[in-house]
Amino acid sequence: MTGSRHDVGDDEFGDDDAEEVSGIFSAGHRAPSAVPPLPPLRDVIARHGLSANRALGQNFLFDLNLTGRIARSAAPLDAGSVIEIGPGPGGLTRALLDHGAREVIVIERDRRFQPILAEIAAAYPGRLQIIDGDALKVDVAKLGSAPRRIVANLPYNVATPLLLAWLEAGTAFTSLTLMFQKEVADRLIAKPRTKDYGRLSIATQWRAEVKRLFDVPPRAFTPPPKVTSTVVQLIPRAEPLFPADAEMLEKVAAAAFGQRRKMLRQSLRQVSPRAEEILVAVGIAPTARGEELSVEQFCALAREFKSLRASRPTTAPL
Ligand code: SAM
Repeated sequence: MTGSRHDVGDDEFGDDDAEEVSGIFSAGHRAPSAVPPLPPLRDVIARHGLSANRALGQNFLFDLNLTGRIARSAAPLDAGSVIEIGPGPGGLTRALLDHGAREVIVIERDRRFQPILAEIAAAYPGRLQIIDGDALKVDVAKLGSAPRRIVANLPYNVATPLLLAWLEAGTAFTSLTLMFQKEVADRLIAKPRTKDYGRLSIATQWRAEVKRLFDVPPRAFTPPPKVTSTVVQLIPRAEPLFPADAEMLEKVAAAAFGQRRKMLRQSLRQVSPRAEEILVAVGIAPTARGEELSVEQFCALAREFKSLRASRPTTAPL
């Protein structure tokens, strides 16, 4: 996912659309404990003289009802490791710890947040591990211990590559509870014959069960983005939905949706000049378009193209 954010309308925020509250202990949902009080996030940010860096997709959550709702959506948190990408000043991190996470491991690329995160680690001894780095370069599946749950308000500019890498890791993760731009969430969840259905829908639904949890309006963030966001939960499947070679499936989907309006007998020619014959062999009308096919049909096509490739003489075209 790349590109600018633009307004997409839907502002549903559910029952938890509460007044912003300024302190982690002010919302009343958390029982006082032995944890020493941390100052309100806005104060922390002001004290450290920080401002949001848009290039790093920084839109922060200060609303305790909202961070609490995300943490509760990811529950249970009391076993294994919760991995958070891009904690920033730590609003969601604090909610995860506050909602009983046994261990939280955060990966933050912007070093300006390290002192703030260190203060949170000190307030929750032994429960917060901070990784100073780029989440795209970290093998997240090897962090902490199972059950691993990823929870994140993702930096929008790297959200899709991160998700695809995590999905490839299969059941290394028990769940992924993630905030995306709504337009991306719509594509993750989309069904055939809808405008949002495409490569991302197939790659995601093939490997995970995916569920929309709730939308979050721009005003919930500081600074507010231009678009609505959506929290989605993905549960990786023990096995992909139907057998297929991942690379070939991606290739077929890319060809089918790269020329979305074209009939498959035409668009799939870039996979093989024998595309029409293969479509007939798997029982798909050569005049169909990519958006009409189910994930199962894409997998059948990928298998057929793959076996054709495996059986061809080295000099013959696929
Ligand atoms: N979790 C915080 C919250 O909800 O208020 C901040 C979320 S903000 C949308 C995204 C965060 O991801 C920022 O703190 C940003 O610096 C961080 N970030 C951006 N790209 C990153 C990357 N490649 N690896 C790790 N963190 C990254």
